[in-house]
Amino acid sequence: MATGNINVSVENIFPLIKKFLYSDHEIFLRELISNATDATLKLKHLSNIGEAKTEYGNPTIEIKIDKDTKQLHIIDQGLGMTADEVQKYINEVAFSGAEEFLEKYKDSAKDAGIIGHFGLGFYSAFMVADKVEIITKSYKDEPAAHWTCDGSTSYTLEEHDKTERGTEIILHINEDELEFLENSKITELLTKYNKFMPIPIKFGTKTETLPKPEDAKEEDPAPTKEVDNIINNPNPAWTKQPADLKEEDYKGFYRELYPMQFEEPLFNIHLNVDYPFNLTGILYFPKLGQDMNIQKDKIQLYQNQVFVTDNVEGIVPEFLTMLRGVIDSPDIPLNVSRSYLQADGAVKKISSYITRKVADKLTSLFKNDREDFEKKWNDIKVVIEYGMLSEDKFFEKSDKFALYPTVDDTYLTFEELQDKIKGNQTDKDDKLIVLYASNKDEQHAYIAAAKDKGYEVLLLDSPIVSHLIQKLETSKENITFARVDGDHIDNLIKKDEEAISKLSDDEKESLKTDLENVIPKERYTVQLEAMDSNASPFMITQPEFMRRMKEMQQTGGGGMNMFGNMPEMFNLIVNTNHELITQIKDTKTAKKKERLIKQSLDLARLSQNLLKGEELTAFIKRSFDMIK
Ligand code: ADP
Ligand code: MG
Repeated sequence: MATGNINVSVENIFPLIKKFLYSDHEIFLRELISNATDATLKLKHLSNIGEAKTEYGNPTIEIKIDKDTKQLHIIDQGLGMTADEVQKYINEVAFSGAEEFLEKYKDSAKDAGIIGHFGLGFYSAFMVADKVEIITKSYKDEPAAHWTCDGSTSYTLEEHDKTERGTEIILHINEDELEFLENSKITELLTKYNKFMPIPIKFGTKTETLPKPEDAKEEDPAPTKEVDNIINNPNPAWTKQPADLKEEDYKGFYRELYPMQFEEPLFNIHLNVDYPFNLTGILYFPKLGQDMNIQKDKIQLYQNQVFVTDNVEGIVPEFLTMLRGVIDSPDIPLNVSRSYLQADGAVKKISSYITRKVADKLTSLFKNDREDFEKKWNDIKVVIEYGMLSEDKFFEKSDKFALYPTVDDTYLTFEELQDKIKGNQTDKDDKLIVLYASNKDEQHAYIAAAKDKGYEVLLLDSPIVSHLIQKLETSKENITFARVDGDHIDNLIKKDEEAISKLSDDEKESLKTDLENVIPKERYTVQLEAMDSNASPFMITQPEFMRRMKEMQQTGGGGMNMFGNMPEMFNLIVNTNHELITQIKDTKTAKKKERLIKQSLDLARLSQNLLKGEELTAFIKRSFDMIK
């Protein structure tokens, strides 16, 4: 029997590991199963290249709980260790065997999927155990070894009579950590961290129902059988080649990832690169609708099929965190802080690769089946519009797939939109004016008026649309956006409405005075316009600039807060060619005139959804009085 001191440079490494290395105690299980997986994959590799003469077979990793002795066992059938190797790999802390293995078999083992990196994973066992034992038998023809350590820096190492190849780790669970002896806790951890690990993991048994024999009676119960309970899927979809997967496989994997999610994803993007970094994964577009506050943190990050985190901030561009799915990369530094991640060159490359892949996929979906893409547009546009705003590269590519729906449900690309309104919707400086509505019902009257004149009206109703418009106006040439009820539209109306005013200048002067006597100046600027006699007599428009600034502040960004505090101002456009206006002008009694103006103003407010509360109640009452 050998005894000795664990070779560490810091006298008390255990308290250090316990406190600082991992904040989460539960990851010990992930680390030990990763080691067991590594040991099995190493054996597989050695037998593939003919260096291990033993039978590889169908190795599994088994987790066993012994409540009576308060022990947790992790048993593998991997390559095992000789006494010398235990000495070297376990006793020399921070000397990573995984790294040495990769170094030694550099060329052949690159794709073996080895997880270990830092040579500290094993010691995480002491976060939950007072004492740890290793019983291990190497694939080499040497006796098994038994290592014991109680968490101090001394250990014992002796021979053991274990004959079957592989390693058993025994944890004597600490009194404060007894939850790790509960079936439910272990099941929870295995499903969280190990659900897609490459070697089958066995935990307990389960009862399987067998088909009834043919001669069984109706009332006979179906026969059952106890079988191993395998908790993982060792070959998850993302590790396969896209060519080998069908649509159904992708959907099936989505259900595997999110068993509680009943809605199917709209489409998926299979990520697969090996140069200049290694990354695989599948991203899904869920149905998003209008909701920007959808639950993020749904993308899971794996390293060689071991779950690491569901916080992919910094790795995936912000706008894509609304997606779901899996990313697996051995190249993402895992044990470092988030701020470091964001500055890391490799991580930046990964992020821009993902952005590019998503843009390419959207382009091909649009090209291959435009009709289907249009159907999905309203469920994915928030992500796309957010991406256009936040990632310049994505914005550049978005011309190929970003859609601009009209109020009549026609979906136009930006280029198609430009072609469509060219010549017809230009202001006096020949700038294109894109008319849009944000709410079909509330702006109905304005939409109808614009359509009457043959204008195209878009329906842009996502919450960040004012930001997007701002971005389009600054990056596209010679184009400006105007909401149908905004004041920009005046330019358009005035230009083609060269109607001759029915009123003389004097008449206009006195009409304006009459109107301004009744209409509150602090809210409305009165403008007389000679329009078509069929157009509305009173129309309220809102200064486009002001409204947009306010909206942008509400949805974040947009700079100065001054706009948020400004009172709402409107333009009241009075159509001097309308019969009602002539009638108002000609009304003799001041009282009656005032009543007509008030009623007209309220009707205009009503059509803009601006009449509310007490004022609305008064208006309704007044209207009833008038018609009775
Ligand atoms: P790492 O996995 O990063 O190399 P660990 O501290 O987790 O570091 O493990 C140290 C070394 O101990 C491993 O590299 C490996 O050589 C050896 N080892 C640990 N667990 C096992 C096991 N179950 N079977 C064989 N060797 C093991
Ligand atoms: Mg390890």
